[in-house]
Amino acid sequence: MLAVLLGPPGAGKGTQAGRVSDSFGIPQISTGDILRENVRTGTRLGERARAFMEKGELVPDGLIVDLIAERIEQPDAEGGFLLDGFPRTIPQAVALDDLLRQKRRTLDGVVLIDVGDEEIVQRIGGRYLCRGCGRDTNMPGLESGPGTCPHCGGELYQRDDDRPETVLRRLKVYRELTAPLVEYYEGKGLLQVVDGTGSVDEVGGRILHVLHQMQVEHVK
Ligand code: AMP
Repeated sequence: MLAVLLGPPGAGKGTQAGRVSDSFGIPQISTGDILRENVRTGTRLGERARAFMEKGELVPDGLIVDLIAERIEQPDAEGGFLLDGFPRTIPQAVALDDLLRQKRRTLDGVVLIDVGDEEIVQRIGGRYLCRGCGRDTNMPGLESGPGTCPHCGGELYQRDDDRPETVLRRLKVYRELTAPLVEYYEGKGLLQVVDGTGSVDEVGGRILHVLHQMQVEHVK
């Protein structure tokens, strides 16, 4: 299985990618997670990416493509992988096509998790990450701070770029630079749209269903 999860910030890509990765036994490759880890540990890449991330802007394509080129060469990606948060621009998608062509691989499909703007802003406003188990949790309408993680009791915090003004910027960037990928992959006959509203299980069920169908089509 070689697939891409596409969707606006807050659509649930990270959460759902984790479930798909478990279900298919393939690694989840999340450029956002890799970048955050680089920022946290203070690598050169992290230093260069941080300013863009803090403003809700995209990190330059060249940096991201190099990062992905290296990541998909790792042994765990040999049997397939799920991309989450990449590609995010047309040049990134073209670079991915080139990288896969060199490896004589093709994408099985691209799943767009469809969620409206209003719900996105609401969801991200209530999104907290746990310093203990790393999971994110949604607690809308909390005014007195996020409390503790419902999974492990760890300390919760909000991502720097989840602040309201940055979220609006990220949504605008999504509409301008990432949304054109919908047409790009539609044109290649690879796009499947999944309704991203409802519970995590409901959305997850829809995604797994279309991915299994894509796999069957690919084998044919
Ligand atoms: P995410 O966790 O996917 O929302 O990504 C967080 C931030 O990392 C984004 O707002 C961008 O600044 C940066 N980022 C992640 N993936 C990419 C990408 N494929 N291209 C450019 N920037 C990215």
